[in-house]
Amino acid sequence: MENIFGRKGTRVIDVGGVKIGGDNKIAVQSMNNTLTSDIEATLRQIDELKDAGCDITRVAIPDKEAAEALKEITKRSSLPVVADIHFDYRLALMAVENGASKIRINPGNIGGRENVLKVANACKERSIPIRVGVNSGSIEKSLIEKYGKVCPEAMTESALGAVKLLEDVDFDNIIISIKSSSPRLTIETYRELSKLTDHPLHVGVTEAGTVREGIIKSAVGIGSLLSSGIGDTIRVSLTGDPVDEVLAGIGILKALDLRKGGITFVSCPTCGRTKVPLIELASEIEKRICGLPYDLKVAVMGCAVNGPGEARDADIGLAGAINEFILFEKGETIRRIKASDAVEEFVAEVIKLGEMKNGR
Ligand code: SF4
Repeated sequence: MENIFGRKGTRVIDVGGVKIGGDNKIAVQSMNNTLTSDIEATLRQIDELKDAGCDITRVAIPDKEAAEALKEITKRSSLPVVADIHFDYRLALMAVENGASKIRINPGNIGGRENVLKVANACKERSIPIRVGVNSGSIEKSLIEKYGKVCPEAMTESALGAVKLLEDVDFDNIIISIKSSSPRLTIETYRELSKLTDHPLHVGVTEAGTVREGIIKSAVGIGSLLSSGIGDTIRVSLTGDPVDEVLAGIGILKALDLRKGGITFVSCPTCGRTKVPLIELASEIEKRICGLPYDLKVAVMGCAVNGPGEARDADIGLAGAINEFILFEKGETIRRIKASDAVEEFVAEVIKLGEMKNGR
């Protein structure tokens, strides 16, 4: 990948076949919000995330039931699955055994060197990396006392201390994250950390908020870091549908020209001429097509009077009329589609055109 921001050199780590770090593409991650023990719902959501363009997903492993469910999930998953574990090293061991592609854990709180060694050895045996995940809320009291507050120095020391616990047991297949809900603190901390380590960095703003708030904070936090060459994989964290996290993550990468190709989606802001429920329709279509591997500009417009003209440069578009839609390509009307069939037929047309143009 083009190194346009002078990307900082990091080691390369393999997460279930997805390479993270070095000059590899910046992977987009998300996290399932299904109950992990509900295997079918979790797998369905993983497929949705993959369709949206997600590279890696994570599932919570709060108990034995979830760790057991992981076996079937990893067997059938369309994406590498990361197991998210807090405090209990036995769940980490089960997750490794049950096919997790990576473990997210804080080695500082799994009960001492013995347990760290057990988890590290299990991961080493299967070449599974560990993400050392430190959050501003989980900084050791001693560090807060030392620095007087939660600050970049305290967070960095906490993360590097956790990394050292693994390195001390001869484990270095490590990715680090060090998130805060404040974009500013996140930016300052990752900048500090990246000077001191060459482990790949998983970048994100944690507990960023609802879709609106969260996307703003993530775009600022993740965007600033990426533009200074920091970050090997990203997760936008939203109180909402994880598919929106993926779309936002890809959007941030595209805005910085760090991911090229794929679908460019445009839709009009709607006005008094709109006679169709465009807002719902546009977000439904966006979710369905954004992860498709075709270089296409796709438009969803509110009216047939101005829509096709305003979106003349779109390869394919849909414009609302009364009880029906107009399908257009490069501004030219192709045919009409019944309102009730609009989403399905339009998605099928986008795929058909994509296959034709991109020769897949
Ligand atoms: S495309 Fe039509 S509905 Fe959308 S903003 Fe333009 S005039 Fe209004």
